[in-house]
Amino acid sequence: MSEEASGGQRSVHDLVGVGFGPSNLALAIAIAEHNEELRRTPGARAVNAAFVERQPRFGWHRGMLLADATMQVSFLKDLVTLRNPRSDFSFLSYLQSRDRLIDFINQKNFFPSRMEFHDYLQWAADRVDGDVAYGREVVAIHPVVRGGEIVSFDVVARDATGTGEPLVRRTRNLVLGTGLVPHLPDGVSADDRIWHTRDLLPSAERLRTMSPAPSRFMVVGAGQSAAEAVDYLHREFPEAEVCAVITRYGYSPADDSAFANRVFDPAAVDDYFVASPQVKQMIMSYHGNTNYSVVDHDLIEDLYRRVYQEKVRGEQRLRLLNVSRVEEAVRSGDRVRTVVESMITGERTALDVDAVVFATGYRTPDPSWLLGEIAAEFRRDDTGQVVVARDYRIETTSRLRAGVYLQGGTEHTHGISSSLLSNTSVRSAEILDSIVSHDEPAADPIGVAARRPVSVDELVPLLSK
Ligand SMILES: Cc1cc2nc3c(=O)[nH]c(=O)nc-3n(C[C@H](O)[C@H](O)[C@H](O)COP(=O)(O)OP(=O)(O)OC[C@H]3O[C@@H](n4cnc5c(N)ncnc54)[C@H](O)[C@@H]3O)c2cc1C
Repeated sequence: MSEEASGGQRSVHDLVGVGFGPSNLALAIAIAEHNEELRRTPGARAVNAAFVERQPRFGWHRGMLLADATMQVSFLKDLVTLRNPRSDFSFLSYLQSRDRLIDFINQKNFFPSRMEFHDYLQWAADRVDGDVAYGREVVAIHPVVRGGEIVSFDVVARDATGTGEPLVRRTRNLVLGTGLVPHLPDGVSADDRIWHTRDLLPSAERLRTMSPAPSRFMVVGAGQSAAEAVDYLHREFPEAEVCAVITRYGYSPADDSAFANRVFDPAAVDDYFVASPQVKQMIMSYHGNTNYSVVDHDLIEDLYRRVYQEKVRGEQRLRLLNVSRVEEAVRSGDRVRTVVESMITGERTALDVDAVVFATGYRTPDPSWLLGEIAAEFRRDDTGQVVVARDYRIETTSRLRAGVYLQGGTEHTHGISSSLLSNTSVRSAEILDSIVSHDEPAADPIGVAARRPVSVDELVPLLSK
């Protein structure tokens, strides 16, 4: 903990965003547009923000940028349009800049490929006038105390390659946009043959060059990523068998019908926020199938067609092991020995595979993981989850004067769109409005001091965490 020197000489950012995925990218754009507006207002003070991103450059789920994968959200739910349809950071502006606007329109399709949307996000990240430190991983956040109150934070980021100078950025507001964490079943750890779908492309590429060529894969899970992994491996490794292990009887289609889709609307956040815990639970159980453990209808049809055609030809290469679970997955030399148990008969089948892909989803990290002692100031509900206000600010004791905002990780308070793209543009504006309305002016304008290098002595205890 640092005691702030009287007069607060060190410069302070209005906000520091941890992570620079789509959520904090949308926030950076909202800030840039807000500051541009302010230029026309004499005496107005611009919001000064900085972002810290672990990856060496912008990247959105690169390990799943499969050639044919399409977005599950309309291109109109891009980084800006729902907040400001006139923004020149829209997907349409991007298309125009790439000279593809008319070609896109002729497709008559609201759902671009994931590769194209990635290119859009990258384009926006390159253009936004934001202070983004790439290749820096935030490893700790320390409170800065004045008169017994926590008035700001020191955000400590190490150089992800281990070669450059670490940074500390002081800020009066934190916006945590660190995304979700890949989840593997208990007892399973990833390696070069046991993958989470997050790493599908690079891991499969490595295997492609190896001899002997892979003869069997296993994919565990029944959601969209699982079905995409099955589809990809089956197409890209035409000599290999692909065993899909699912606990369901078959893949279930995503409900993308119009009325159900309203659960992703900005207004649905208002509704969800004020609903009782019982009604929240009811909404999630009725409409979880718009997003969780479901697969695009076309992909289900395609996979079924392939299974059927293989049956006709008498060469079954795509095998669906339904109502089954993987009981074991252990390395055995260059292969993985798995045991699959039928949940109907209890029969256990040993299968040696070249790689197992776990499409077992992601989990929301508790925001306290980075905040250390500061997290003791957070209010928590009966289930131990942080209490988050409608403006995405964590509710805290009065000792914590600085703001901690969540971009994502608010499904328990704000509903199903929390970890998705649907509301990114609107949520960013709500967070920015809240920061602007809470904050007193910064002690002094931003300067080099806010980016002071940290001494190695200061950093070593943090890096060993
Ligand atoms: C394959 C796939 C496809 C998807 N498709 C869709 C879709 O079509 N539509 C939809 O609505 N949602 C989709 N999603 C959901 C997805 O969560 C959102 O698209 C989106 O990624 C959320 O953005 P985010 O910025 O909140 O999180 P992320 O995109 O996860 O970004 C978080 C960023 O924080 C960085 N970071 C984490 N920890 C630190 C740290 N300590 N220090 C510095 N940086 C850090 C990470 O490197 C990352 O860049 C998809 C998810 C996956 C996995």
